[in-house]
Amino acid sequence: MAPSLDIKLEHKLSNEEIIALDKQHVWHPYSSFNSPLTPFPVASAKGVRLTLEDGREVIDGMASWWSMLHGYNHPKLNEAAKSQIDDMSHVMFGGLTHAPAVKLCKTLVDITPVGLNKVFISDSGSVAVEVAIKMAFQYWISQGMSEKNKLITVKNGYHGDTFATMAVSDPVTGMHHMFESVLAKHFFVPAPQTKFNETFDEEDVSELRATLKAHHQNIAAMILEPIVQGTGGMRFYSPVYLKRVRELCDEFNVLLILDEIATGFGRTGKLFACEHAEIVPDILCLGKALTAGYLSMAATLTSDKVATGICEGEAGVFMHGPTFMANPLACSVANASLKLLLEGDWKQQVSNLEAKLLKGLLPAKELPQVEAVRVLGAIGVIELKQPIDMVRIQPRFVEEGIWVRPFGKLVYVLPPYIMNDEDVATLTAAMIRVVASI
Ligand SMILES: *Cc1c(COP(=O)(O)O)cnc(C)c1O
Repeated sequence: MAPSLDIKLEHKLSNEEIIALDKQHVWHPYSSFNSPLTPFPVASAKGVRLTLEDGREVIDGMASWWSMLHGYNHPKLNEAAKSQIDDMSHVMFGGLTHAPAVKLCKTLVDITPVGLNKVFISDSGSVAVEVAIKMAFQYWISQGMSEKNKLITVKNGYHGDTFATMAVSDPVTGMHHMFESVLAKHFFVPAPQTKFNETFDEEDVSELRATLKAHHQNIAAMILEPIVQGTGGMRFYSPVYLKRVRELCDEFNVLLILDEIATGFGRTGKLFACEHAEIVPDILCLGKALTAGYLSMAATLTSDKVATGICEGEAGVFMHGPTFMANPLACSVANASLKLLLEGDWKQQVSNLEAKLLKGLLPAKELPQVEAVRVLGAIGVIELKQPIDMVRIQPRFVEEGIWVRPFGKLVYVLPPYIMNDEDVATLTAAMIRVVASI
C-alpha cells in the first residue's frame, strides 16, 4: 500500500493532491477502491454552474441529485443560513422546540395533500423511509394487529440504502440475492407498465389485487414512488395506477406510504406527484429538495388517524428520535427555500423546462444506441440499449462542459428550475454528442 501523503491541516490542497488523497481514503456513493474512475474536484458553484479545481466550468444537469432547485450559492438561502447560525446552529429536539422547525412543519402541512397533519423531521431520505415503515408497523401493533408485519411494493422501486429500505427496493439493483440472509422479506408485485400518458390497462393491478387479497392480514403498508420510479429505472407511469393503489389499500385495510423524496417540490409539474392522481397517502416521505440542496434533511408526514393510532398503543409514544432531529440551520434554509418556491413561478419554470428538454433530447431517438427518450416535468431521460462504460464516458461529459452522471443504461438530467433556455440547449446538445459517440 502506498504511504499516505503528508498533509498539514492548513495546507491548501492542489487539484492533484485532492485526487490522490481521495483515491487512497475516501468512499463515494457506490464506489470501489479498485476502480480506475477518478472523481472531479469541485472548487465552488454558483447558479447552474460548477467550477472545478482545474479551472473548468460545467453546467450542472443533476441539481446535485434532484435537490438544488434554486441553483447554487443563492443569496436568499445563504442569508437564511448565516442569520440562523448567529442565533443557534443546533439544539436538541427532545423536550425543546424552536420557531424554524414549527414554521417548517406548518408549511409542509399546508402545501401537502389535505389530511397529512403530523410531521416527523429526520436527517436523510433513507431515514425518512425507515420512519415511515416504523410508523406503519407501530400503528398496527398499537391496534392489536401485530401480525400485519410485512410490506408490499412494486419492482423497479428505490427507497434508500439502509436495511429496511433496501428490503423494499428493486431486487436486482438492490442486490437482494447478495443480502438475502439479512434482509426482511416483503411482497413484490410487477412494476406498473402503463406509461404516464397511455390509456390505463387494468391488467396492471391484477397481481397487486391478488396478492393483497391473499395476504392482507399480514400486510401493514404498501410503499412506492408516485408517478416516477427514479433510481430503479427512471420510469414514468400512469396516474390511474396510483388511484387503483389507493382504492386497493382502502379495500384491504393496508396503509399507503408514498415516497416523494425525489418527486416532491414541483419536479414532475405538480408540487407533489401524487396530485397527478388526486390521492392522499397515509404516510408521505419528503427529502432531497427540502433544503434546496443545502443541508441534509428529510420529513415524514402522516395523518391524525395514524399518529393517534400509534400513540394510544402500549408504548404510548412513537419510538424514534434522531440526535440531529430538526436541525435549526436546515429548517431555516428549508423555510427560505419554500418561500422562494411558493412565491416564485416554479410551475412556469418546470413546464418550460419540460418543453425545452423534450425539444433538445428528442433528436437522440434517431441514434442507433438509443432505446427511448422521455421527459416529464423537469426530468429528461435518454435510455440506451446497452449499459454505459462509465470510465470512458464520465470524462466525456466534462470535456463537453456539462455535468451528467449516468447509471446503467440511463443518461438523465434534472436541472435546477432556474436553468435558462440557452443553458438547457447547451446541456441537451452536449448530451446527444456524447451519446452519439458511445
Ligand atoms: C434518494 C432517495 C431516497 C434516499 O434518500 P437519501 O437521502 O439518499 O437517504 C429514498 N427514496 C427515493 C425515492 C429517493 O430518490
